Amino acid sequence: MLQLNQLSFWERKTFFDSIDFTIIGAGIVGYSTAIHIKEKYPNARVLILEKGYLPSGASSKNAGFACFGSPTELFDDLQNNPEELVWQTVKMRYEGLQELFRLLSGKDIGYEKNGSWDLILQNDINSNIDSRFIEYLNEKCFCEFGLKNIYQEDVLSLSKFQFKGVKTSYFNAEEGQIDTGKLIRTLHELAISKGVISLFGIELFNFTDESKSVRLALNVGEFQTAKLIVCTNGFAHQFLKYEVMPARAQVLVTNEIDDLPFHGTFHLDRGYYYFRNIGNRILLGGGRNLDFQGETTTELQITPLIQNALMKLLKDVIIPGKEFRIDYQWSGIMGVGDTKSPIIRKDSENVAFGVRMGGMGIAIGSLVGKKLAEMWA
Ligand SMILES: Cc1cc2nc3c(=O)[nH]c(=O)nc-3n(C[C@H](O)[C@H](O)[C@H](O)COP(=O)(O)OP(=O)(O)OC[C@H]3O[C@@H](n4cnc5c(N)ncnc54)[C@H](O)[C@@H]3O)c2cc1C
Repeated sequence: MLQLNQLSFWERKTFFDSIDFTIIGAGIVGYSTAIHIKEKYPNARVLILEKGYLPSGASSKNAGFACFGSPTELFDDLQNNPEELVWQTVKMRYEGLQELFRLLSGKDIGYEKNGSWDLILQNDINSNIDSRFIEYLNEKCFCEFGLKNIYQEDVLSLSKFQFKGVKTSYFNAEEGQIDTGKLIRTLHELAISKGVISLFGIELFNFTDESKSVRLALNVGEFQTAKLIVCTNGFAHQFLKYEVMPARAQVLVTNEIDDLPFHGTFHLDRGYYYFRNIGNRILLGGGRNLDFQGETTTELQITPLIQNALMKLLKDVIIPGKEFRIDYQWSGIMGVGDTKSPIIRKDSENVAFGVRMGGMGIAIGSLVGKKLAEMWA
């Protein structure tokens, strides 16, 4: 590949000289950070470097749920984390979605506010919630962000949706779904329209903070930038070994199904499984809890264990008795850690990290970008 020391005067001047902010990673967080920096400092030279020929993390591979928490996931989170921390995260997701819609129009990213349902299966022993817990959630949501009665039990729609083996469900009218491809493309276009330079196929191997600037070791050679902002999510394990772990998530998409009886987003089993319609197709993902160890990887592969579990869920619960075919299967890499809170941190005057978005980067990604942009005087 062409090395930086082979570039012409014009190429160096246009793309690499006097860069104020270099952002690593062209995902939701990287683009949002670049856009917010340009809003704050219109004259700043902002460069995004992405290792893939497309964004290659989670932002172009996710399920497209614009959500802030299903009851069984929140119940599970509250069992394992301090209450305050759980609600901080939920509030951040809610506010993050508001920030996303400030930045981009719902129309541009294919937003559909069809609501979400958390399905409780008849044989589910992990999702042990009752009406008192739902009351608690509604009170907390009202206190935290002023919305009344967000969660409601919904038994009636289950027969309409024709699921099998579902005991009850909890409906949230405030959640919706986006077109993941449109989101990343619109962010890219907005960043470019603001003068951000975005280059693909360039990987950061390492960096050295030299107090007045940062030296980057890239696959195309060395390069100096005034500030470095690392937005590589699960891949940040490369730099923050103990704080960020990669977490692979697998999904599949069916063929178009005649008379698909539901439109909306659905969660199951503490958020470990999720499905939605894309037109008349079904996107179904999850099952990471079947093999946490095996899924702690940055390898973009799918496995029979998880894909078979997803297919069984389709056959047994989601579209029992209907013929279907699997048209697409893929995986993407998330970033997780000991808690569900993201890392938004300046490690020195010149270097910052915005990583570890877990399974909620759509909700919080643009707010994280805003916070990263606000860090510089
Ligand atoms: C299958 C799946 C389903 C999901 N569903 C949802 C959902 O429905 N709702 C939701 O809110 N969230 C969901 N998520 C999570 C969400 O997609 C992520 O939280 C979000 O995309 C993270 O964005 P990011 O910009 O931090 O990271 P990423 O999108 O991962 O971007 C990081 C980028 O950095 C690049 N990179 C990494 N290392 C380097 C390097 N050394 N040099 C240069 N470039 C580098 C990568 O190629 C990548 O493009 C899902 C994730 C997956 C995988």
